[in-house]
Amino acid sequence: MTISQNTTFNHHYNEVSQKPVHNIGFNVKGTEQYPIQRASEAQRFKVQRELAYHTGNKSLFNCRRYAHNQARLSSDGKKLKASGLQVCGSSLCSYCANKKIKETSEDLKLVLRWCSRMNRTSFFGTTTHSKTLHIGQNDSITRAGYVSMRKTIKSIEQDYTIKLVFFATIETTYAKPEDYKLTSTGEYVCDTHSHLHWFISFPPEVDKETRIKALKRIVKAWDRGVKREGGHTLTKKQNVESLTENYRKAGLDIKLLDNEALDYEDLAGYLGKLISGNSDYKLSQELSNYRVKQGKGRSFLQLLDDIIIHGLEADKKAWINTVKSSYRKRRTFKNKYFKEALKEMKEQLANQAYEHALDYVNVLIGNKDIPIEERSTMIENEMRSFIMSSQGIKNDTFVPTVDIDIPKEIYNTIGFYNYTSLLLDLVVRAGRGELLKEFNLLKAFVDTNPHFNNPLYSRNHQPTIKLLKILQDIEYKMNVMKKLSYDLEVE
Ligand SMILES: [Zn+2]
Repeated sequence: MTISQNTTFNHHYNEVSQKPVHNIGFNVKGTEQYPIQRASEAQRFKVQRELAYHTGNKSLFNCRRYAHNQARLSSDGKKLKASGLQVCGSSLCSYCANKKIKETSEDLKLVLRWCSRMNRTSFFGTTTHSKTLHIGQNDSITRAGYVSMRKTIKSIEQDYTIKLVFFATIETTYAKPEDYKLTSTGEYVCDTHSHLHWFISFPPEVDKETRIKALKRIVKAWDRGVKREGGHTLTKKQNVESLTENYRKAGLDIKLLDNEALDYEDLAGYLGKLISGNSDYKLSQELSNYRVKQGKGRSFLQLLDDIIIHGLEADKKAWINTVKSSYRKRRTFKNKYFKEALKEMKEQLANQAYEHALDYVNVLIGNKDIPIEERSTMIENEMRSFIMSSQGIKNDTFVPTVDIDIPKEIYNTIGFYNYTSLLLDLVVRAGRGELLKEFNLLKAFVDTNPHFNNPLYSRNHQPTIKLLKILQDIEYKMNVMKKLSYDLEVE
């Protein structure tokens, strides 16, 4: 299938992109506080698709547009939950990134805990380089720095016959509109700034002197990699030879993480505080790319929300160039030993959870009257909640006020005719008590058409005609509502 089929958004895109720069509403000299505003899921879906179209990236373009099987959508009027959909899985996707962040944070917590138990000495480092105006170039410089570091870490492991736990993530921040660069051709450019955040853990037999030696080699490797790719590091201004276990200079941060700190319940938050000096900060978020920085830059996710809210051309270009230059590329890296430690922790946790659940269920039941299948379901649930609580994950407080199950064939027809974002919007609005009549009409359509099937998405298929009519009617009502009060969710 070609991605230009049935698309109505080119018109919309041009309309927004022609907005003159002087209308942006920002103080370009910039003392004004730049407000952090959040867009809705439906808006993100729609605008991300519009932007992805310009990158030629089909999987990002089609993320959530079709279902694997029956789609389930529910909402409490604020959040939207979906399952059964085909997703792209990219960390650059507004929808898929959240899942990735969660997984990465959970893995990190386990590995940090493991390092603490093993009495290892761990460090958190941030290395950076001077920015360039080209997003792709910026990204390749950061990656070159990482690759060089990785090789050196392997050499260190061989030289001392030790195993190092290493994790790294690329974080890119985007200049705020008041910090746009004005090029010689009179164009505003949103430039980016990339950092590599990394975690490294040494076994207890390595002494302090050796650790510092190793850290120096790693920092120098970063410098070499960056230079090889045509970039510049800021470490020229400092003397790497004077590196200590706690080091903070322009472009280079090293923090020693003491083992007591590693045992804290909210360890991720604690580390984040150390690193950023901001108490609201979560290290896990920092390590997973999507921090919303109060300071200089914006995260990639915030960039999308700003495009939705303000529609600035320079932001759109930055978004598109990022996807074009790094869509299929990894942004987080785990070395072999990190993975081994993680595997060990997960196995241990699963065993503990099983034993706990078995005890719990045996006491609870007390007899064998409960059927086997029910027992195993109870054990599974108990294991899951044990694992979640031991990882500090709160039980989900999401209580949907509406939900709808849509068979794959109907969901895909809605996607084919580009009504997915409308559908998402409808579910959230219905969750708030808006457009309930229309929502129920759609629900009734699903119930009365259990054998809906239009594999070629023909417009002459009677039930499809009926479905499109319902959707068009909803679209009309929503447009009217939006004109009355175009309300953005601000968290
Ligand atoms: Zn996605």
